[in-house]
Amino acid sequence: MKPKVYVSQPIAKEVKEYLAQYCDFKVWENEEPIKREDLLKEIADVDGLITSGRRITENLLNHAPNLKVVSNLSVGYNNFDLELMKSRNVIGTNTPGVLDETVADLAFGLILASARRIAELDQLVKAGKWEPTSGDDPFVGVDVYGATLGIIGMGRIGESIARRAKLGFNMDVLYYNRSRKPNVEDELGVKYSDKESLLQQSDFVLLMTPLTPETQGMIGEKEFKLMKKSAIFINVSRGQTIDEQALIKALENKEIHAAALDVFEQEPVNKDNPLLKMPNVVTTPHIGSASRKTTDAMAMKAAKNMVAALTGEEPENRVV
Ligand code: NAP
Repeated sequence: MKPKVYVSQPIAKEVKEYLAQYCDFKVWENEEPIKREDLLKEIADVDGLITSGRRITENLLNHAPNLKVVSNLSVGYNNFDLELMKSRNVIGTNTPGVLDETVADLAFGLILASARRIAELDQLVKAGKWEPTSGDDPFVGVDVYGATLGIIGMGRIGESIARRAKLGFNMDVLYYNRSRKPNVEDELGVKYSDKESLLQQSDFVLLMTPLTPETQGMIGEKEFKLMKKSAIFINVSRGQTIDEQALIKALENKEIHAAALDVFEQEPVNKDNPLLKMPNVVTTPHIGSASRKTTDAMAMKAAKNMVAALTGEEPENRVV
């Protein structure tokens, strides 16, 4: 008998064809996310779950007594309770690498959109306000080309962003990371910096670490105060890596110039969040890896990790 797998979001035909060779599987085919209570019912007798960002809690594991593998459709795996999964012998995998360039494109899109006020001015043009009227802020922005970019978290995606910044935009790139990356320094000419100096010197501060107990809230009141008043802050990592209230205060008090955010403390973001009312804040709904090609590549990677784990092989991207 083939193992049973539940896939909690739509996946490409090729991925289904691949899975069908090894598993009996069912897919949530709707675009709107499956409700938690429905997910708990669907996984009652499965051996594997392919999912994106669903929290793997004791309650979820109790609803899925046969569950042996959770294959994440993302590189981040802060939805895993690593200790719990280890204690229950549940394998966890992620999808690193295949999304680096797509996420780096989005990060650069956010840098450009916030620097040149693209989203804000798009709305004005569409509202028939082509020219500033007296008293308006003239429609000027700041340059990206030649500016200083500080990247916190120089991993796979950080490196792809640094390459764009150096080769495409002639930027000075500073980086702060848990470990130093001499190969990236040699190849791209980026400079290692302590966190404080990076925050003080950068025109753009971009956060690209995973969410872990060490990185939770790593950018807060103190860090925003260290940034230049002209600084633009970009977060593509996870919402909880920053203190969102501190960001709101820093923007309200004009301690920094602007922000661009793909991720929020609470997702979907609450419609009353003050950040959504600020014209100098660009927002996207956690779409870093969301191109069709990359989404399909991630799903195939997640499926391969699942099949490997269920057939007794070591999955390529095991994290627990
Ligand atoms: P990665 O290759 O593992 O890179 C993460 C980097 O962060 C590593 O270089 C790591 O240092 C560094 N780091 C970890 N903890 C740190 C700390 N406490 N202080 C300073 N640096 C620290 O991961 P990746 O593939 O680039 O992805 C990074 C994260 O981006 C993911 O985990 C995910 O949360 C987020 N992400 C978001 C989206 C989106 O849609 N917005 C899409 C993809 C990824 P070491 O080199 O020393 O390990």
